[in-house]
Amino acid sequence: MDDYEEMLNNAYKLIPKEALEHNRFEIPRVDSIIQGKKTFVKGIDSTIKEMRRDKKHFLKYLTKETATSVTESGQNIIINGKFGAIQLNKIVENYFKQFVLCPACGKPDTKIILQQGTKMMKCEACGAMTPVRGI
Ligand SMILES: [Zn+2]
Repeated sequence: MDDYEEMLNNAYKLIPKEALEHNRFEIPRVDSIIQGKKTFVKGIDSTIKEMRRDKKHFLKYLTKETATSVTESGQNIIINGKFGAIQLNKIVENYFKQFVLCPACGKPDTKIILQQGTKMMKCEACGAMTPVRGI
């Protein structure tokens, strides 16, 4: 074992178990392909399911962020325009941070509930209630 590897192993041992648990989730990613002047995003349903959010809500955000039209086609979505994978995954990441991650504890165990007509994000991990910002 070289020094670098040993250093990494030691560093890993120093991370408290709790911190590792905090990082158990991964930011969802999407697969996309550009064909002509359109971008096809594949299997978006599973990504949205993973985030436990409403597809329409996500599509509204995507429409705004890409500033173009977005149409549903079965499991896929078609974006009018060319968008690279890095750009699209950045949009998904921003959505995840704004509408899924709890701002109080940083966990993704949240759900959207209506409270007196206002959309709130309720965290199942720490109980925090955060108003959902409009798109
Ligand atoms: Zn929380």
